Amino acid sequence: MRQTTASTCCYCGVGCGVLIEHDGERILDVTGDPNHPANFGKLCSKGATLHLTGDLDARAHYPELRLGKGLARARTDWDSALDHAANVFAETIAEHGPDSVAFYISGQLLTEDYYAFNKLARALVGTNNIDSNSRLCMSSAVVGYKRSLGADAPPCSYEDIEQSDCLLIVGSNMAYAHPVLFRRLEAAKAKRPEMKVIVVDPRRTDTCDLADLHLAILPGTDVALFHGILHILLWEGWIDRDFIDAHTNGFDELKSMVRDYNPAMVADLCGIGVDELQTTAGLIGTSKRFLSLWCMGVNQSTAGSAKNSALINLHLATGQIGKPGAGPFSLTGQPNAMGGRETGSLSNLLPGHREAGNASHRAEVAEYWGVPALPEAPGLSAIELFDAVRSGKVKALWIACTNPAQSMPDQQKVHEALVACPFVVVQEAFFTTETCRYADLLLPAASWGEKEGTVTNSERRVSHVRAAIDAPGEARADWAITCDFARRLETLMRPSQASLFAFDAPSAIFEEYKLLTAGRDLDLSGLSHELIDRLGPQQWPFPTGSTHGTTRLYGDGVFPTDNGRARFLAEQYQAPKEKREARFPLTLNTGRLRDHWHGMSRTGTAARLFGHVEEALLSMSGDDMRRRRLLDGQLVKVRSRRGELLIPVHKDDSLRPGQAFMPMHWGDRFLKGMGVNVLTLPDFDPASKQPELKHAGVEVEKVELP
Ligand code: SF4
Repeated sequence: MRQTTASTCCYCGVGCGVLIEHDGERILDVTGDPNHPANFGKLCSKGATLHLTGDLDARAHYPELRLGKGLARARTDWDSALDHAANVFAETIAEHGPDSVAFYISGQLLTEDYYAFNKLARALVGTNNIDSNSRLCMSSAVVGYKRSLGADAPPCSYEDIEQSDCLLIVGSNMAYAHPVLFRRLEAAKAKRPEMKVIVVDPRRTDTCDLADLHLAILPGTDVALFHGILHILLWEGWIDRDFIDAHTNGFDELKSMVRDYNPAMVADLCGIGVDELQTTAGLIGTSKRFLSLWCMGVNQSTAGSAKNSALINLHLATGQIGKPGAGPFSLTGQPNAMGGRETGSLSNLLPGHREAGNASHRAEVAEYWGVPALPEAPGLSAIELFDAVRSGKVKALWIACTNPAQSMPDQQKVHEALVACPFVVVQEAFFTTETCRYADLLLPAASWGEKEGTVTNSERRVSHVRAAIDAPGEARADWAITCDFARRLETLMRPSQASLFAFDAPSAIFEEYKLLTAGRDLDLSGLSHELIDRLGPQQWPFPTGSTHGTTRLYGDGVFPTDNGRARFLAEQYQAPKEKREARFPLTLNTGRLRDHWHGMSRTGTAARLFGHVEEALLSMSGDDMRRRRLLDGQLVKVRSRRGELLIPVHKDDSLRPGQAFMPMHWGDRFLKGMGVNVLTLPDFDPASKQPELKHAGVEVEKVELP
């Protein structure tokens, strides 16, 4: 019988509500949920084809275990698989200490999955070696919000997009990466053409079609741009002195620093016209409601945190925060990167927006969990973690719902790490990922439409993800796998003590987790799965007793810092790590396409999603191609300091000479050599530890075919 189950899309951070049509065994269709406040019934090409991506041939159906490197994996049962894993982890911890094991998890997981993994790593194993692929995605925004505003809390709502009169979109191709939100912006601009949209992006993307002004800055010069805008705002008197005096600290230091960022110098450094810079500052400075939106072009940088802070400075200087249509608003890449930040799923965090490096935070969580203490030693962030695996410091690695062999920069080293690691567990729905090849133990996980829990989208809205059908074969929900493993490990590490993982459903995990947020900036204590079902998706904070969520933060001008004041950050512009040089004269940028998601484990199973772009291509300007005597469609070798790959080249005059672009989606399953990340560099922002995925020096040469 045909049934409908309301759930949430599993791709991007817009967090659209979906209605899953199914017959109890198969998902037949997916439509937008008209009642969901993120999308009001709309879906993009990815969301609308979710029902076409359930290819069972690509799914992991049974646990598989390899009993020695070089041997093939063989099917096993869950008891044998998890007992074996528990024994290996317990022996490794006993022999080499808790920091000899690590967990690398994902912004694709649900909040309840995240929480179970965190408790497993910190409370049971006793390590902070748990990091997430959100490190590659939003960690610079986390640092930016915390340093400037006091908490990792995006202060805005999607409705601010409709209420703004000046939008600055930086390093975000919203038209591809957050399509439903972009449609909302398009509709708002059609209704109010006087709304001004400025797009800052080295490439002319489809998002620029909506822009009144496109600032094609040179890659990585964002901090100089923001300081240059502030210089003009100050010069013209377009700042809100009352707001600055009443609600902020640190303005004088910043003011004296940006004196040096005069328009001529900034325009030259950024590769734009002085008039463009002045127009931008004028639009921002004279607008009543100024909103900025940003994404990976800002975050994935060795200066990612400085870029975030410099952008937030513009809002604090103009008092454009905490009111309708105004504020700094990061767009989250993954569907539940926010949930990961909330549950403490970066190595430096703890649940409830706490810090692993803060002794009183550790004591609060340890007491709540009923364990003597939480580990003090700093955990490893993503890049550091795989380095530690490669060097042999980490000897057992658990990877869940992510594909580091395709998505991590300097890919060759990650592959070497996975080969070298004595024991690799991969908990994954699709056995086709590059990372699965390296699994000594492959644990089949349930996927979207088959599992239950919650996710938080970019506007802090917590939605229910519901199961419509059973997972194939013996695949199980991620929280259930994690808790089952944890209970087996407990019998070896803390026998005859009550289990920390006596959960029978994701709702039970949520009930435990939410109380750890009580009284914190993100207070979710009033929420439950049942309440979301009754009232619909809600924005945090949602303290006990609330009847509705919180649309906007900081309307009262009080910030969650020690003294209630926001902070201006004065950090100088730093050039990107990899400078142009004769051997590698092109700057390679990487990014998303409209119809694919991450490493394509899911979207790669739907033929329709290859209709927009059929194959991976390297895009270059016509000038650069002519200089190298390259023709459109020709196979080229792309080389960086770290590796090389073969790929057809494509002429794209929306790129300036000296720049190149490759989509992030294709891994070595599709390309000769390896995926794009064989070229990217592992250097990271010192504050956020987010790697620089958008600025690698490369050279391109013709491949002579025999
Ligand atoms: Fe899914 Fe994002 Fe598309 Fe919405 S915009 S349907 S959340 S991929």
